[in-house]
Amino acid sequence: MTSATLQLAIDMIAQPSITPDDAGCQAMLIERLQAIGFNCETMQFDDVTNLWARRGADGPVLAFAGHTDVVPTGPLERWQSDPFVPEIRNGILYGRGAADMKSSIAAMVTACERFVAEHPDHQGSIALLITSDEEGVAVNGTVKVIEALEARGEKITWALIGEPSSQHRVGDVVKNGRRGSIGAKLVIHGVQGHVAYPHKVDNPIHRAMPALHDLARHEWDRGNRFFPPTSLQISNINSGTGAHNVVPGHAEVLFNLRYSTEIDPKKIIETSKVILDKHELDYDIDWKISGYPFLTAEGELVEAAELAIKQHTGQDTELATTGGTSDGRFIAPTGAQVLELGPVNDSIHKIDEHVNVAELDTLSDIYQGIIERLLG
Ligand SMILES: [Zn+2]
Repeated sequence: MTSATLQLAIDMIAQPSITPDDAGCQAMLIERLQAIGFNCETMQFDDVTNLWARRGADGPVLAFAGHTDVVPTGPLERWQSDPFVPEIRNGILYGRGAADMKSSIAAMVTACERFVAEHPDHQGSIALLITSDEEGVAVNGTVKVIEALEARGEKITWALIGEPSSQHRVGDVVKNGRRGSIGAKLVIHGVQGHVAYPHKVDNPIHRAMPALHDLARHEWDRGNRFFPPTSLQISNINSGTGAHNVVPGHAEVLFNLRYSTEIDPKKIIETSKVILDKHELDYDIDWKISGYPFLTAEGELVEAAELAIKQHTGQDTELATTGGTSDGRFIAPTGAQVLELGPVNDSIHKIDEHVNVAELDTLSDIYQGIIERLLG
């Protein structure tokens, strides 16, 4: 028998919502959510369709977050079945978005439906923040919705993101944070000239070397229980005219730091300036923050997730901060507790993306268990 969660996942996978196209997925969610008393607000930013759906007017607010867009399929002939014609073979559901992350969204909706049926007068509010711009450039998606909510003073207390966090079985790993990422382009100026006249040149490579050495060996922090120490990696050094006998006029260096929650961009930028200034360089530096770190070390959301996972799978979940960035980076700065919990991630973005059918209902039960512990 096809469960409600499986059916909704199948219906969504059948929509070819290649990023940033939502392809009508959110309309399906709106129909289901309005039927159980959610107020659904479509927030369109350029070509990106976002949905903010909320049931209840009071806090605290538990928001499920996710995306309806999927990555491109890759060569169709390599798929065993059409990526947008969902197919079940041996208890496994195949299709683009099966694991990342239409099954999670289906599980969120059915969890809400069962919870609301049992607790029509629940405490606080339940919400869904759904974007169609997570897999692409992510400029008109979650970040803009959060800005709009912040502008009108609407706060999320707990955000549960349905990204595929699990490793072998659903619920075995929950992501409770991600490292931050900040990059710099450093240009060191010198004076170009003939190598035979060193007193008439100012060699930017010679000036760069000791400064870069100091930057690279600096101890930014020692990390903490959840994060490894912050690390700076120099990724590019470019200088020189190609000639043996010319001292170049400048050197260009790119470096990136993956940073823990023990430090922040301001401190990184200040410390770098102190190091560079010590070497009396003539330089320009351009910084770009590509993601803020977040960490939800403990709190009601972590506790509710651990208990719900234990109840429905029997296992003790592991908290981890590994992996690339996610939309959690946009939600966490508002002060919300943020967790990522979704299906097994071994096939995401791949040919023959899939999810274990039996685990869909387990995921929905876990989500419902979390709602019950927080708002029941
Ligand atoms: Zn995803």
